[in-house]
Amino acid sequence: MTAAPPNLPVLPDDDSMLSRKFGREVANYFSGSPLNRVSFLRSDHDFLNKAFAYPSASFLLMNGLAPLGKDRSTLAYVGRDDVLPLIGPEPFKQTEAEQVRNFNSAIDKPVVLFLGLDEKNKGFTFKEFGGHPYFAVDVTPRGTYTEKAVGIAEAVQKKGVDFIAGGRHMNLSAPEAAIYAQARALFDWNARNPFCGGCGQRTMSVNAGTKRVCPPTDLAGVPEGGEPQARGACPTRAGISNLSFPRTDPTVIMAVVSADGTKILLGRQSRWPPSMFSTLAGFLEPGESIEEAVRREVWEESGVKVGRVVIHSSQPWPYPANLMIGAVGQATPDGETIDLGNDPELEKAKWFTFDEVREGLQNGTAGLDEPAPSTLKEGGIRLPPHTAIANRLIDAVINGFLSLSPKI
Ligand SMILES: [Zn+2]
Repeated sequence: MTAAPPNLPVLPDDDSMLSRKFGREVANYFSGSPLNRVSFLRSDHDFLNKAFAYPSASFLLMNGLAPLGKDRSTLAYVGRDDVLPLIGPEPFKQTEAEQVRNFNSAIDKPVVLFLGLDEKNKGFTFKEFGGHPYFAVDVTPRGTYTEKAVGIAEAVQKKGVDFIAGGRHMNLSAPEAAIYAQARALFDWNARNPFCGGCGQRTMSVNAGTKRVCPPTDLAGVPEGGEPQARGACPTRAGISNLSFPRTDPTVIMAVVSADGTKILLGRQSRWPPSMFSTLAGFLEPGESIEEAVRREVWEESGVKVGRVVIHSSQPWPYPANLMIGAVGQATPDGETIDLGNDPELEKAKWFTFDEVREGLQNGTAGLDEPAPSTLKEGGIRLPPHTAIANRLIDAVINGFLSLSPKI
């Protein structure tokens, strides 16, 4: 049994038929949330109201996507009373239909997310569901609530915590990284979509921050008690499609092994630190399977032709909305020649022996925004840290293609 790498989600022991046949499941950093999202309850405003009213519910605040933290490795949560001045005592009072009917584009409202229930801590119950409720509030100063948001930020900062800006937040514990990733991705998506893609008019956030709708009417400029005014036509209001949902962009990332299984293909971009190499990666395109995307990206970026592709694991990557789909591919016997002439993305691509890569994994891992590790040897390669799926893929290949679960 090997020790679990720090900060990675630990899966329960599993001796299922599938694990025996295909290897153990791999959980990557930013996955492994301790929260049950109970997504079907986000439209139940009775549930949301009760969860919000639970006295010790936890709230994660983000300001410009910087999470409130005690330091770079620990998030800080605040209580309901800390956010009431900004979001009021009943942010989920209205049903979705009522929210749409009362839409007023002249009044900005901060997004309040319901993240889920921590079922290990069953303080709150609703029907057969229970757990500690987690919410998140976007306190980035915007529009008509700018002053209140600034006030909230200043008040919590007086408690000795601060919004931790910059970096990828790769030092959080696995459970906190997953909570942060969920909140960051949803706040970013809401902030990027204030206008309808169909008609260009303002949208509003509903369903506890996980949907946006283009309302048919607007109360802006209407005297108190007056009827809402019809807005311009919108193609998304025909049928049931007047909603938009959070976007997730699939990305393929792959460790490519040589035809004889003794070398691994890695590449580097010119903007990376010296001697840093990683697996190749690229966006999945519409109408393309994961396996096809792996073969296309590897050929375009390196000239290498890949045959068999096996999907290994995946990693949510909230910068801003990626899902990294990790795969292992094998070059065809006549397809190993490197040619960077097609796509200028890579400065260099090279076949490395397993020994060279093993040395890099042991002594040369560091994040892109970190200094080179002091253990990096002269002439050695620098590789991504184990919180990046690239590292897990490389590690899996040089360790015999087995799943790299912490408890092998
Ligand atoms: Zn619209």
